[in-house]
Amino acid sequence: MTDGSQIGDTPDIREKGLLERLAGGETFLADGAMGTLLMAQGLEPGAPPEEWNVAYPQRIADVHRAYIAAGSRIILSNTFGGSRIKLKRAGMDARTAEFNRAGAELAREAAGGRAFVAGDIGPCGEMMEPMGGLTFAGAVDAFAEQARALAESGVDLLWVETMMDLEEARAAVTGARRASDLPVFCSMTFGPGGRTIMGIGVRQALESLRPLGLAAFGANCGEGLDVMDEVLDQLRDAAPALPWIAKPNAGLPRMIGDKAVYDVGPQLFAERTAALIARGVQVAGGCCGSSPEFIAAIARRISK
Ligand SMILES: [Zn+2]
Repeated sequence: MTDGSQIGDTPDIREKGLLERLAGGETFLADGAMGTLLMAQGLEPGAPPEEWNVAYPQRIADVHRAYIAAGSRIILSNTFGGSRIKLKRAGMDARTAEFNRAGAELAREAAGGRAFVAGDIGPCGEMMEPMGGLTFAGAVDAFAEQARALAESGVDLLWVETMMDLEEARAAVTGARRASDLPVFCSMTFGPGGRTIMGIGVRQALESLRPLGLAAFGANCGEGLDVMDEVLDQLRDAAPALPWIAKPNAGLPRMIGDKAVYDVGPQLFAERTAALIARGVQVAGGCCGSSPEFIAAIARRISK
C-alpha cells in the first residue's frame, strides 16, 4: 500500500487540534532519537544533521516513517541544531531557512496526517551572557528566525528541547512565541535531584517559562530513567494542570570503543514509560539511544 492510499483511508489526526486533545486527557507517543540513527547511517560526528534534509532527504523521511509505523503520533523535524548560531559553527548559517524548511516539509510529508509534526528547536551551542558572549536579544532573534521558517512550512507545533540553561530556554520560547501562534512545548534536560547541569529545578524553570505561554513542559535526554520520577514529583507540585512531557534517554551510556551504548532495552524502557504515563505524562517518547523499536514496545505495552 502506498502512503497516498493510506492518507485517503485514515482520518487526518489534525481534524481535532492538539491542544484540545491534550485538554481532553489524551496521551501521545512522540518519537525517539534521530541523531543516533543518522550516525548509524554515516553522519560524521560534528557535521550538522540538518544538512541531510537537503542532501539525503530520503534517509530523514525513512526515519520519520519508521517512527510513525511504530506508533508515534508526534514526530520532531530534523532541525534540532537548525538555529543560525549553531549552523554558523559549520559555516552553513546562510542555509538556515533552507534547512529548516526542508526539515519541516519532510516531516509533514512523512506524517501525511497520521501524526502531528513538531518543529524541533534545540540549544544553539553558545553560552549566554554573562558566562558567554551571546546576548538574550541575539538569541531570541536567532530562535525566532528558525521558528518562523518551521511555522511557514506547516508544522503543527514548536518544540524547544534539551535545554539546560534557563536563559536560553527563555530566549527560545520567546522566539517561538514571537514567530507564530502555534502551540509551544518545552522540555529541559534534568540530572540527579531533578536539576539541570546549571542547577535549575523544575519549579524555577516553570516560574520563568510558563508566563511566556507553554502548551506542555517536561524533560528530555538526561541522566537515565530514575531522574524522570524526580522530575514528575516536582511537576506534580509546580504544574498539576499543564500537560507533561517525558522523553528520556535509553538509560545511561557506556562507551564501547568509540560508540556510546545505552543500557536500557526496548522492553524495560516500555515498562518504565508505561509507569510514567500512569503517573500523568501525556507526551512520552525516547531520546538518545532509543529507536523505532522502543516506540513500538511502548505502543504495545500501553495498548494492553
Ligand atoms: Zn538525548
